[in-house]
Amino acid sequence: MLPRHEADNRRTTGVFLAQPQSDVWQRIGDWLFRHQKQIGWVQWSVVGVYLMLLVLPAVLPLPDNSAHLWDDFTRFAQFVFWGVWWPFVLLATALVGRVWCGLLCPEGAISEFSSRHGRGGAIPRWIKWGGWPTVAFASTTLYGQMVSVYQYPKPALLVLGGSTIAAAAIGYLYGKEKRVWCRYLCPVGAVFGLLAKLAPLHFRVDADRWRRSQLAGLQPGAVNCAPLVPLKTMRSASDCHMCGRCSGFRGAIRLARRSPAHEIVHVAGDQPKLWETVLIVFGLMGVAVGAFHWSSSPWFNGAKQSAAEWLVERGVLWPLEISAPWWVLTNYPERSDVLTLLDGAVLIFYVLAVAFAVGIVVLLLLALATLGLGRWHAARLHHLAQTLIPLAAAGVFLGLSAMSVTQLRMDGIDVPWVGEMRAAMLLLASVWSGTLCWRVTGLYSATTIRRLLALLSFGLVLAIADAGWFLFFWS
Ligand code: SF4
Repeated sequence: MLPRHEADNRRTTGVFLAQPQSDVWQRIGDWLFRHQKQIGWVQWSVVGVYLMLLVLPAVLPLPDNSAHLWDDFTRFAQFVFWGVWWPFVLLATALVGRVWCGLLCPEGAISEFSSRHGRGGAIPRWIKWGGWPTVAFASTTLYGQMVSVYQYPKPALLVLGGSTIAAAAIGYLYGKEKRVWCRYLCPVGAVFGLLAKLAPLHFRVDADRWRRSQLAGLQPGAVNCAPLVPLKTMRSASDCHMCGRCSGFRGAIRLARRSPAHEIVHVAGDQPKLWETVLIVFGLMGVAVGAFHWSSSPWFNGAKQSAAEWLVERGVLWPLEISAPWWVLTNYPERSDVLTLLDGAVLIFYVLAVAFAVGIVVLLLLALATLGLGRWHAARLHHLAQTLIPLAAAGVFLGLSAMSVTQLRMDGIDVPWVGEMRAAMLLLASVWSGTLCWRVTGLYSATTIRRLLALLSFGLVLAIADAGWFLFFWS
């Protein structure tokens, strides 16, 4: 069966642009196009499972130490959310694009549904500010640590449920059948957007076929692209949710394979984005790393000890004694898990200090690499920052999967070869980032010595990032 756009093309003008030979990917894209109703059912099933996993544990008593993930619903939900869902959605996005967002994400489905039945207001300018996803990612990551979101169900309900309610409210207020929340505000949307750039699959727009369909006077029906991607000029997979609704549109859009290096090398440089650089350098390589490290860091313990001694010497004891409600700082005395105000303050300070220290050093080294290529161009620095995506993403995946491994260990399940797999992943991601950097330097300089200078500086960035993970896993 023809995709509807193609059928529309024929009906409207009697003109048909010959399709290039259809391959398996194009057929998958067209299949998605034709099965939107069934995709909707899947999405609402995921909403049901999501709400059950989110709400039930919050009303059940906390599991004791003898509970396992196979005999306790709270432990099971915890493992599904943080041990499976989060790390493997990241991995899947790097492999097949934002399929999760378009076909499965409960927040996306809820946001689009409420937008369909909402006020349909124009999107205000403040929502379109490019910094929101980065700020939201950093804030939720930090807040998640303050309240131990990975360990306890109530904070999970607060953080994830709060985000879902916000997605529904934004959907209700703005756009018509659109995913305004996902496009501009989702705390993980920008991270998914970065990872999707690595995906070897994307919806490709053939500009020439688009133009020819216009010249032929084709007037196909409009596509409801919920995340508001400008279809005609789409070159990046970053904002596309892979929903398939535009497959076959004007005979010019199809699901297609591409090199995993293509977008970073050939597209990212034409669309430099300051906030993406901030997210990679300060967010993924900074805040996320600090958030994974702090609880086992000797520097965190040292800072806390020094601050405590300093306070005691001055007779100020209340920061060491007072705790806060569970929705401000972790507070579970029955589990002997309570953060005092001092703990909380040092935690925030530590994560932000790691983020700034790593971010500034990485930024300086990227600036040096940029200068190594010739005259200063900020756009080149942003392009080089994009080549860090594989390593930054691998780090976040490893940090999150460390929780999966810990949770399984608590239940007596040892994952074999875990150290070797981590080392292999870091090595692979470093080589991938290094190779991307080398190819990008080739766009800006034909001089091998300049390219090597840039790569040398970039290599130091890779070494710093790898050293952080080495300390976390192997020290
Ligand atoms: S560009 Fe829009 S309509 Fe097309 S697949 Fe992506 S999200 Fe769906």
